[in-house]
Amino acid sequence: MSMEKVKNLTHKKPSGYSPQATKDTPVQYVKGVGPARARLLERLGIGTLEEMLFYFPWRYEDRRDLKKISDLRYGNIETTMCEVVSAEVITTPKKRMKIFELTVTDKTGFLKSKWFNQPYLERYFKRGQKVILSGAVKGNPYSMTGAEMENPDFELVGEEDTFIHTSRIVPVYKATEGISPKQIRTLMFSAVNNYLSIIDDYLPEDILKRNGLEPLRRAVKETHFPEEFSDINVLNRASSPAHKRLAFDEFFLLELGLALLKKRETLEKGISFEDKGVLVNRFLKSLPFELTGAQKRTIDRIKDDMLRPLPMNRLVHGDVGCGKTVVALVSMLIAVENGYQACLMAPTEILAEQHFINIHGVVEALGLNAVLLTSGSKGKSLDDISQGSAQIIIGTHALIQEQVKFKNLGLAIIDEQHRFGVVQRADLRSKGPNPDILIMTATPIPRTLALTLYGDLDISIIDELPAGRKPVITKVFFPNQKDRIYSLIKDELAKGRQVYIVYPLIEESEKLDLKSAIEGYEAFRKICPENKIGLVHGKMHRDERETVMAQFKSGNIDILVATTVIEVGIDVPNASLMLIVHAERFGLAQLHQLRGRTGRGAHDSYCLLMAYPPFSEEAKRRLKAMESTGDGFKIAEEDLAIRGPGDFFGTRQSGIPDLKIADIIRDINVLENARKEAFAFIDTGPDFNKYPLLSKTLKKKWMGRLELIRS
Ligand code: ADP
Ligand code: MG
Repeated sequence: MSMEKVKNLTHKKPSGYSPQATKDTPVQYVKGVGPARARLLERLGIGTLEEMLFYFPWRYEDRRDLKKISDLRYGNIETTMCEVVSAEVITTPKKRMKIFELTVTDKTGFLKSKWFNQPYLERYFKRGQKVILSGAVKGNPYSMTGAEMENPDFELVGEEDTFIHTSRIVPVYKATEGISPKQIRTLMFSAVNNYLSIIDDYLPEDILKRNGLEPLRRAVKETHFPEEFSDINVLNRASSPAHKRLAFDEFFLLELGLALLKKRETLEKGISFEDKGVLVNRFLKSLPFELTGAQKRTIDRIKDDMLRPLPMNRLVHGDVGCGKTVVALVSMLIAVENGYQACLMAPTEILAEQHFINIHGVVEALGLNAVLLTSGSKGKSLDDISQGSAQIIIGTHALIQEQVKFKNLGLAIIDEQHRFGVVQRADLRSKGPNPDILIMTATPIPRTLALTLYGDLDISIIDELPAGRKPVITKVFFPNQKDRIYSLIKDELAKGRQVYIVYPLIEESEKLDLKSAIEGYEAFRKICPENKIGLVHGKMHRDERETVMAQFKSGNIDILVATTVIEVGIDVPNASLMLIVHAERFGLAQLHQLRGRTGRGAHDSYCLLMAYPPFSEEAKRRLKAMESTGDGFKIAEEDLAIRGPGDFFGTRQSGIPDLKIADIIRDINVLENARKEAFAFIDTGPDFNKYPLLSKTLKKKWMGRLELIRS
């Protein structure tokens, strides 16, 4: 068949659909799938027919215009359909590398393609086989053919299915071993043509109208096989009207769930604390500083929440060093003086320990009893908690374990929320008679994004650092500047200051890290022989680690060599310099958190970023961002720009529904509209019996986490 004929092929009409198929029909029974392929699709998260229809392409290729070989342009990404002339595996003489070489022709010329280390490809290509190749075109002066592609995408073309895979804008799906993007496309084509009718529009009519949304079936169809919306660039930005509809739905269902959670909490009875103020005032008087305006405002809001008979659900959000611990303590004291217990849950053992060290002295001075609860804790502390002799409990995830029983938990604080989710919050809540919940996070995120992730929470922002804080002077150094670094360190030590030296934690090889931290420790003992040096890392026994940390805090240790275990929560105002080794390997948020350990006292502080070239463009941007700003919000924005939102949030772990199509940044307007609609809808106190499809879809999305909806 000639190229012209392929182009002129009309698209196949949908064949009849199977009336018995439903959303929950296992894909195994979908035409063309069967048990073996069903197992492969399962790996892609496709178990049911509905999941199949909602498995969308990640990009598109415009194959309406397949290029002739003579028209290929060097440097462009081009797609061409040709016939195989020869296919062979060659082995390079020196490195013994296997290269699969394919030569194809379309009568206007020849094109060579190469794949490295994939000799098995040979078996797919027979002489005369029609194939589509898509990739960047290179010139090769040594090749007879002139033009060449390296590792192009390829598809074998049979005469009968060219209308699916060519002569149109084709969707490209993420595939897995054993099933190719092309096979998935074939299955999807059949699914879209046969089963689209199982999808029903569940959004209320007026919401569809107000937002100018495409009907759901058309949106699904067009997202898979675009015909009406055919701008390839718009499609590849996932911004066609079809994509927008799907994005709206994802946001709407997310926000609807959050709105319900929020509403449920306003319906439930919580504890009304009284404002006695005795312990709080004694505590505030004992502080060597005045609270900042932002701290006072936040405490007032928390107090209001605690006095009301509804359960508090507040997020306190503030950059590192803004003084969240004091706010947490005041809240805990309010609970305690009303006869309740208060707990503080931290994401890591070392952070829980640090909080305990920072807090227990203060608490005991007020005549109260604090305990630390981690996974290794023994019966004694469990008894103290269940009998109520411990009023303040600091701990890790261990706090939400079965066997931990509180006598009367009135307030639960979660520190560093980004590592906890909706589900853990609910677990913690179930530990008491509807306790108040306060969440503290130092991950600064733009407000709209906060609304998405924490849409069911009230938010306070501590947007002011304690007076007199100076920006941490931050600079990147290279290995050939070691002497300069050592002299800066020695200068600080000579002034009586203390120093952190941080080594990276590389997940694949914790052993290697440890090795580098230990080597660093040995090296600095030689470099600074007259100073006391300590070492902390995650593999150390808790007692040992606590001893070292306590010695650093009290000033008995001058230099603390550490892995990233010190990332959060450690507070030593006299530590004025931090050296981060292999800074190019750290994420931006992490660098900012680490740096936040300095700049806590009255002295000038320094953060030295030791970077080992060569490193990526992204690493360069991260280091530059660190040098140019100390503002957590700016850092967060840059981080978001570098990493993209998916990676930034990890919504899966936060317990809220996944976003597959929607992108919090790109689709911010869609998000805002969806949020408005969702909250307005819940505000009307809707009877979900009248919206059976919506209610079913919502429940499915949230997987049983929204007990409020009854239908
Ligand atoms: P973060 O918000 O990062 O958890 P911390 O609560 O650890 O911050 O506080 C950082 C440091 O600032 C601590 O040493 C704390 O005692 C101090 N601090 C907190 N509030 C104030 C304030 N209003 N004025 C001066 N120092 C403060
Ligand atoms: Mg903190």
